[in-house]
Formats: sequence, structure tokens, C-alpha cells
Amino acid sequence: MARPTDVEALRDELKTVGERGLITRGLGRSYGDPAQNAGGTVLDLTDWDTILDVDTAAPNVRVQAGISLDRLLRALLPLGLWLPVVPGTRQVTVGGAIAADVHGKNHHVDGSFGNHVSEFDILLASGDIVTAAPDGDNAELFWATVGGMGLTGVVLEATIQLKEVETSYFVVDTDRTANLSQMLTALETGDDDYTYSVAWFDTATTGDSLGRGVIMRGNTASREALDPDQRRAALEFAAPQRGRVPFELPVGLVNRFSAKAFNALWYAKSPRHRTDEIQDITQFFHPLDIVGDWNRVYGPKGFCQYQFVVPFGEEAAFTTIVETIAQSDHVSSLNVLKRFGPGNRAPLSFPISGWTLAVDLPVRAGLDALLNHLDQLVLAAGGRIYLAKDSRISAATFAQMYPRLDEFRASRARFDPTHTFRSDLSRRLDL
Ligand SMILES: Cc1cc2nc3c(=O)[nH]c(=O)nc-3n(C[C@H](O)[C@H](O)[C@H](O)COP(=O)(O)OP(=O)(O)OC[C@H]3O[C@@H](n4cnc5c(N)ncnc54)[C@H](O)[C@@H]3O)c2cc1C
Repeated sequence: MARPTDVEALRDELKTVGERGLITRGLGRSYGDPAQNAGGTVLDLTDWDTILDVDTAAPNVRVQAGISLDRLLRALLPLGLWLPVVPGTRQVTVGGAIAADVHGKNHHVDGSFGNHVSEFDILLASGDIVTAAPDGDNAELFWATVGGMGLTGVVLEATIQLKEVETSYFVVDTDRTANLSQMLTALETGDDDYTYSVAWFDTATTGDSLGRGVIMRGNTASREALDPDQRRAALEFAAPQRGRVPFELPVGLVNRFSAKAFNALWYAKSPRHRTDEIQDITQFFHPLDIVGDWNRVYGPKGFCQYQFVVPFGEEAAFTTIVETIAQSDHVSSLNVLKRFGPGNRAPLSFPISGWTLAVDLPVRAGLDALLNHLDQLVLAAGGRIYLAKDSRISAATFAQMYPRLDEFRASRARFDPTHTFRSDLSRRLDL
């Protein structure tokens, strides 16, 4: 692991790189191997975390790429500014958000992170620093880097367009649905009224209640929507953390029995229909950030997160996939469903118009066979899996899911002909 402190030290890393190459790492929040490089160099960029400029009129912000979204949001909120796209954890860097082209609960309205980056400076394998923007001379480099999993160069600084907000709160409506088709219909017909929309659902119950779930949708709250106490600190950043899970639990707290019970309990305790509830950032956006190291509850064997998207019109295939999970004896308790709007111009960006589901499956015998089967169902429906969550798909299946892979490979060959930038993921998937 190298922690270069300035551009010259970074260039030295490029000059002395070994045959296993080098990859940049943000906060390591990808679930698989894109920021790992066995036998090679990993560049830790998290000390590159300065806010360089805030233009409140534009509004936009210029930052070093190692800054976390958490730190950035804490600095921006008091100014009434908010990031356009925030994923399910704030503990990711701007560089990681660009490289995975992350999405939030507002993809159906705002698209993904790369849609809001107006330019960045990137250090190429040649040692040159190039400014790239979505249009113009370096547009190819820009879009290959968005979603490009760190394989085009090191993003050093970026300018991000911001949203204006009156408060740090959200007005949230919650609805419980009895089964999957009810849920899909409710999301399809109701989402236009909300900027942020997400659904949790039960992937353990089969039959008539298959896919029963809870939809949580909201918009940023105006000052008038708050009570007087909240109004006094309307732009305060409230993000409590309630303890950590011990580093090494000898066994997982989550097994298929407890996960099934959790699914049933969550459904039962959720309100049937509740409107206009005021929630803070952590309640609405990042419930997992409340518990540090929440992932340790799965024990030393850990879990595998599987996120896929299938296009609209493939609801039957989507239902078959949910059924396949429910009928297997692998149980996930964290199941997140969202609707994606149209994708962007980046060849490896994950989102396409359609339904996306993420599940957390504890690792145990038979999981690989189940996921290989799901891959084929997703592929047959014209869908794809998300690289930031993947650690196991085969290169052949991945290539079929991403028809623009050759375009990405051509760009990579152009900007990094000797493949200085490499990772375990790039070798595994022959990117
Ligand atoms: C609890 C949780 C919830 C999540 N929810 C979502 C979600 O809702 N939506 C979503 O889209 N994702 C989500 N993710 C995934 C996460 O947003 C991505 O994996 C993100 O890329 C992680 O950023 P990072 O800084 O940790 O990067 P890392 O995981 O360290 O690296 C990810 C990639 O970014 C590259 N990279 C990092 N910095 C740079 C740089 N400066 N220049 C070039 N390349 C760089 C790395 O090489 C690597 O390929 C979630 C992850 C967790 C743990």
C-alpha cells in the first residue's frame, strides 16, 4: 500500500510500478475486488481530502478526490448545499463515487454520480495530468473513467454540481404492499411525486405474499415543514452512531432462521400507510451508518452482496428471480429495490432503465451455484450485475451483460496502453 503525499510522489509510483500494476483505493467500500491488487501496488488516496473551492452561486464544489462524501456533506449542508447523488453509505470517496458511477435513491429523477461531475483532473499512466469533461476533446476519457473502476488513471480533483436545500430533513411517506406485483405497480405509478424512493422487501416469503414489502419515499423538507425545534437547527447535520460491532465475531449473528424472522418482523412492524413523517439524513438515507462495522454481524465467513438490474418490461423475469431466491434456502435480510431512470454515456456504468434489487446473502455452501443461476436469469432478461458489488461473476457472463465492454477496452488501451492500472477485478473479468 502506498500513500503518496503529492503529485511527484504519485508519478514516482507510476515510474517504479511492478508487473502486477497499480490501482487506486478510496475507502474500500466496494464489496468485491476493484480496489485490491494482489502482488501489486495499491494507492491509498484518502489523505487527498481537501475542499478546494465552493461556488455557492453556481452552485458547485471543487475537491480532492480522496474526500469522503460524509465529510463533504457536513461541510456543504450549513451552506444550504447538498450532493446530487448519495449512495447507501456516506463513507465513500469522490474518486470511488466516480469510478463506480454510484447511484442513490433518486436515480429515476437525477441519474447517477457521473451525470453531475462537470470536470475532473486525472493522472494518466504516462504521468500527464489531463482535465476531462463530459463534452469536448477529452469526453472519451471522461466517460471511460466514470464507471471505469480506476482503470484509466488516478482522479486527483473533481468539480461536482450541487443541489440547494433549505433543511437537512426529508418529508417521508411509507407504504406497505402485500406482494411483489402490488409493489411494482405502486412504485411505477407513485414515484413521479418523489425525488427519493426506495423499497425494502421480504425475500424469504413465498406464495401469495412473495415480495411483500415496504416503500419509503420522500422529498427534501422545506423550513415550514419542520417543527420549531428542528427549524432552529434546520441545516444541522444529524448523524448519530450507536456503537460498533466487535471486530471478530466468532460466529455470524445472521443465519437463515434469524434472517427469516427479521424479514417477517420488519414487515409486521412497518406502518401500513404513513405520510409526511420528518426524518433526518441517517434515518432516511443511511440507517446502516448508525452501526459501525455492521457487516461484522455475518461472522468471519461474511456475506455476498448481489445487485442486478433488469429492464422495464421484464417484470415476469424479475418475479422469477425473486421467486428463485425465496425458494432457495439462502436468506437475505437486507433487500433493497429501486427504479432506475435512463443510463448515461459511460460504457461500464451500471444503471439502465429498469428494476434494481440488492440482496445480502451470508456465505455458505451452495451460494455460488445459486448466484450463477441468477446471473443467467438476469442475462436472459437483458439485465446486468453491478461491478461495485461483485466478487464472483465470470468474465464471459460479464461481457454478455455489458455490450459496450469493447468500447471501454479500446479507451483503456488508448489511455493506458501497457495496463499500468490493474486490479484483481480487472484480471478476473479481463477488462
Ligand atoms: C453499506 C453500503 C451501501 C452502499 N450503497 C450503494 C448505493 O446505494 N449505490 C451505489 O451505487 N453504491 C453503493 N455502495 C457501493 C459504493 O458506493 C461503491 O463501491 C463506491 O465505489 C465505494 O467508494 P470507495 O471510495 O470506498 O472506493 P473503493 O471501494 O476503495 O474503490 C472503488 C473503485 O474506485 C476506484 N477509485 C477510488 N478512488 C479513485 C480515484 N481517486 N481515481 C480513480 N479511481 C478511484 C478504485 O480503483 C475502485 O475501482 C454501497 C456500499 C456499502 C458498503
